[in-house]
Amino acid sequence: MNIAPAYAWQNGKLVPWEQCVVHARSQGAFWGANVFEGVRAYLGDDGALHAFRLDDHLARLRRSMKSLHMRIDHTDAELAHACSTVLAANAFDCDTHICVVAYFDEGPNFDPLAYTDSTGVHVTAIRAPRSPGFERGVAASISSWRRISDDSMPPRIKTGANYHNSRLAQHEAVRGGFGTTLLLNQRGTVSEAPGSCVVMVRDGELVTPPGTSGVLEGITVATVAKLAEQHLGLTLRRREIDRTELYIADEIFLCGTLAELLPVTSVDRLPVGTGKPGPLTRSLQAHYDDVVRGRTGHPEWRTAAPKEVAA
Ligand code: PMP
Repeated sequence: MNIAPAYAWQNGKLVPWEQCVVHARSQGAFWGANVFEGVRAYLGDDGALHAFRLDDHLARLRRSMKSLHMRIDHTDAELAHACSTVLAANAFDCDTHICVVAYFDEGPNFDPLAYTDSTGVHVTAIRAPRSPGFERGVAASISSWRRISDDSMPPRIKTGANYHNSRLAQHEAVRGGFGTTLLLNQRGTVSEAPGSCVVMVRDGELVTPPGTSGVLEGITVATVAKLAEQHLGLTLRRREIDRTELYIADEIFLCGTLAELLPVTSVDRLPVGTGKPGPLTRSLQAHYDDVVRGRTGHPEWRTAAPKEVAA
């Protein structure tokens, strides 16, 4: 289904979807000079939508803005309210994906690189059913593209411009018949997938590359760390991962807000473990589903959206 929702939010106001626009000559649109967050809202068993870890996403948005000296006219409370408003206005009856984007607008004399205080924010949400890969798993390649690095294009800053790297890697993978790809960093160790972090299981241990391996500091992987500790008594270890460790890992899965927990069933056409999603992956997927839908614990991670737009 690809039907646009009725409403979006921009610069303090609910607007018709078609009117949520930025100028072609804005730095945000032309140069990808924006920072953003993707947040999932889940339909709970009570029929209400709840945004998952919204506060943590907004905190990361602030960190991305800080590094770019970007100032916006809205507080986190206003942005959270904007998210709720967009969900309520569109009366979604399924899981959704909200994007909060803060962008640099037109610079002085339309100079694309000059610093500008002129910024804007938009919030949009679309229907986002779970990927079929959640059940089936996905085949991954090792990308021929290297991941951007902190000394030139920091992956820690979640800016649209970074996704040029992700796009090159993902398109190459899809043309090669893979569902996704894993990028190595400039040191040649594993970083992440185009839009998610990667976790490997080896000898019963959960391992993910550290924040210094050229990765976005993921919120889903942090959730997985917590759930693994709480329910399985396992500690997620953060250390560098070699390419060939992926070939001999028992299990691999991707973690991202949109992807959720996606089993990787092969790497460079070599089966991961049995070639089927593994038991730890399946167990963590189940715990993840329980927590995002409010069946078990962590109410502090869920923000309920009102059913109707507040007056
Ligand atoms: N890495 C990249 C490049 C991403 O785009 C994402 C998705 N935001 C992630 C990792 C996973 O981050 P999170 O779990 O916070 O969504």
